[in-house]
Amino acid sequence: MPTTTPPASATRDYQRGIELASRAEVVIPGGVNSGTRRNGPPFAFASGDGAYLTDFDGHSYLDYHAAFGAMLLGHRHPEIEAAVAAASEGVGLTGYGVSELEVRLAELVVEVLPSVDQTVIVGSGSEAVAYALRLARAFTGRKYLVKFQGGFHGWTDAMARNVISSKEKAYGDDPLTAGMLDDAWQSTLIAEFNDLASVQQLFAMYPGQIAAVICEPIPHNVGALVPDQGFLEGLRSLTQSEGSLLIFDEVITGFRHALGGFQSICGVRPDLTTFGKAMGNGYPVAGLGGRQEVMQRFNPASGGDVALMGTFNGNPVSCAAAIATIEYLRAHPDFYQRTYALGERWRSGLRSILDELDVAAEVVGFGGTFATYFVDHPVHGYAGLLEHNNRAGVEFPRRMIEHDILMIPLPLKRNHISGSHTAADIDRSLTAARDVLGSMRAEGIVTGRS
Ligand code: PLP
Repeated sequence: MPTTTPPASATRDYQRGIELASRAEVVIPGGVNSGTRRNGPPFAFASGDGAYLTDFDGHSYLDYHAAFGAMLLGHRHPEIEAAVAAASEGVGLTGYGVSELEVRLAELVVEVLPSVDQTVIVGSGSEAVAYALRLARAFTGRKYLVKFQGGFHGWTDAMARNVISSKEKAYGDDPLTAGMLDDAWQSTLIAEFNDLASVQQLFAMYPGQIAAVICEPIPHNVGALVPDQGFLEGLRSLTQSEGSLLIFDEVITGFRHALGGFQSICGVRPDLTTFGKAMGNGYPVAGLGGRQEVMQRFNPASGGDVALMGTFNGNPVSCAAAIATIEYLRAHPDFYQRTYALGERWRSGLRSILDELDVAAEVVGFGGTFATYFVDHPVHGYAGLLEHNNRAGVEFPRRMIEHDILMIPLPLKRNHISGSHTAADIDRSLTAARDVLGSMRAEGIVTGRS
């Protein structure tokens, strides 16, 4: 029987959302098509417009969840929707040769991403990463991969380990799921972000055997660990001297922090880059690109031996959405000024509130993203999050949702400011945050600074 019930604290009936969620539980295991969507009220939305989502009972929510970062310009953005409508009137998917839209999108990606000579377009970030890893192994002839504790790179066997690990499991064996091939996830070694020595140590332990180091240049899957000066440069020179590839997983940072991704901000050029999410403003599109020499392994005509396959790769609707998103960003460079300024407005506003209420927490973020760490010290790597107050990390976004402000109700998750958010939206959110944090402080869910 369906188990969907509203929480005791809910002030609304969420009736139609509950009905839909109950139907879902009968025919979809767990009631959702992606595990992290099982979040409770309001259960589902009926419409979206700009920075707002409206549920089935007519309540509107200011959206910072942004479909885990896939929405960049706002819901139902007119220019993106028009491009999609035009593409759906066109030739459609043929599975033969290449379309004009695919070529145009690849040209744009190569133009904007500094390290990318050639690119391929696939359907999701997980697929893009899977291809990047396969390329790296084929190119180097090596087995092992290095990822960082806290980094998330999709659901494949090689990568689904050590994301938000408990203190007991961090840096050790922490697979995300049953059913994986042990050799696949155990061939991925775990290092500490912002700690080059931890990566050097792995190269020393596995000499000549590491195919690639993969990182989110800002690990946004645990909020926002901003790289220390010299860390990404250090990874670049270490991988180069060890004959290993450096992969930047820009599935979150790409297009969101700059048209050229975080690599255009930090100046470090990886061998391969993966991207997705925001590039299609909600439509399913992702890709990978990089140095010609590596990417040519996909080209059988030049002796390439890595297979590239996918029925929906480069499909017209997704390509049209991505082209329109990139062209919009090119035509409106002020998008980044605006979202960065709004991000700073939230971060400085929330810091003042935390001071005023004496709450032990750190406000972090970059550009138009922000997150709250419920710890009482600055954080540089995952080690700084081992004592994170996860109860507060879930309670804060949950209570914000009760104020009609949608944040991802999971600990350590980032929030996203789109091109449709305004300063008034940020100010309203800060007012709600003062209320929520005040009640959490009064109830002892958060503590004062020591
Ligand atoms: N890489 C990063 C950095 C991600 O955050 C994600 C998803 O959250 C992925 C890869 C996987 O992307 P997708 O969910 O499109 O498969």
